[in-house]
Amino acid sequence: MTCFCRVKKKQMHKFYIASEVPSKQRNRNLSFRPKAYLKPTSIHQAVSLLSKHGEKAIPLAGGTDILVDKPSNIEYLVDITGLPLDYIRKGKEGVRIGALSTFNSVETSDLLGKGPYSILVDAARKMGSTAIRNVATVGGNICNAVPSAEFPPALIALDAMVKIVGSNGDRIIPLEEFFKGIRKTDLKTGEILTEIQIPILPPCTGTALFNISRSSVDISTVVVAVRVTIGKNGTCQKAKIAIGGGIGPTCFVSKACKLLQDEKIRDHLIEKVALEVSAELNPRSTSIRGSPFFKKEAVKVLVKRALRQALTKTGEEC
Ligand SMILES: Cc1cc2nc3c(=O)[nH]c(=O)nc-3n(C[C@H](O)[C@H](O)[C@H](O)COP(=O)(O)OP(=O)(O)OC[C@H]3O[C@@H](n4cnc5c(N)ncnc54)[C@H](O)[C@@H]3O)c2cc1C
Repeated sequence: MTCFCRVKKKQMHKFYIASEVPSKQRNRNLSFRPKAYLKPTSIHQAVSLLSKHGEKAIPLAGGTDILVDKPSNIEYLVDITGLPLDYIRKGKEGVRIGALSTFNSVETSDLLGKGPYSILVDAARKMGSTAIRNVATVGGNICNAVPSAEFPPALIALDAMVKIVGSNGDRIIPLEEFFKGIRKTDLKTGEILTEIQIPILPPCTGTALFNISRSSVDISTVVVAVRVTIGKNGTCQKAKIAIGGGIGPTCFVSKACKLLQDEKIRDHLIEKVALEVSAELNPRSTSIRGSPFFKKEAVKVLVKRALRQALTKTGEEC
């Protein structure tokens, strides 16, 4: 009560109890009242429950998106956090990251900390706050398919694939094909994403990620992820530039990389690629984080920075 006494009179109108809030100001998401909370203990059980309840059920992982969005049509929350999908492994076939790994596990992973995979650590560090990173999962981030997320461009730069399990079996598809638009994915009713698979990267591969966001906690206005592999003769064997920030359907892969193919990457070429990437972009004007003009200009700068840094890092891995 003491704190109420300190509030200036003209500010008092801001304090309502729920029933007093004028109807226009009421949060429409107050209707989020799922009928049931289900906690399967195996992937098979989770998939059966999701298939049984169809459109009325969703998987719940860290809940950092669901409990903000509060989808009002959902009746069954299928909590998948008890499934054995919280792991990061590196083997002959590459890196495998379980869908329930948190951003904190990625950020602190020794397996990912060095070499080209460290772009994932950089992306994880840019995600939200420590509290969010402790619970938010990589699977939830990908399935939410928000264009301004930092992690998907980093994964796409590394040619990541995703494993999807449903009642009809498994399928593995490139992450680029998984995204179908803003908040739209290739997941069918009853399916869950279980694993991210990243192939072994050749020697002399360097990666870099740069972003711009309004604050360190905010999701990105623009994010640029770059991967470059240099061959024995010093020319570029493979380059990939993935861009996030409301620019493409979800994450945009630039065609300008072909300008780098079989070329020695000199500064004038970096300038040319940056201009070309920016020219390719058609940012949506409805983004609340930046105008199309701002994003196109920002991308020019970030592509140059990322290409230069990735190139420097190729030397560390040769
Ligand atoms: C304060 C705050 C700051 C944030 N900052 C950022 C940021 O900087 N960058 C950023 O990218 N995001 C940010 N986010 C968004 C959010 O934290 C991430 O998208 C997070 O990774 C979502 O993961 P989760 O485990 O919490 O997903 P949940 O909320 O549990 O689920 C998200 C969606 O994915 C589905 N889902 C989850 N796991 C699976 C699975 N394995 N298979 C199939 N479907 C699944 C759910 O059904 C739901 O539709 C922020 C959120 C908050 C609240």
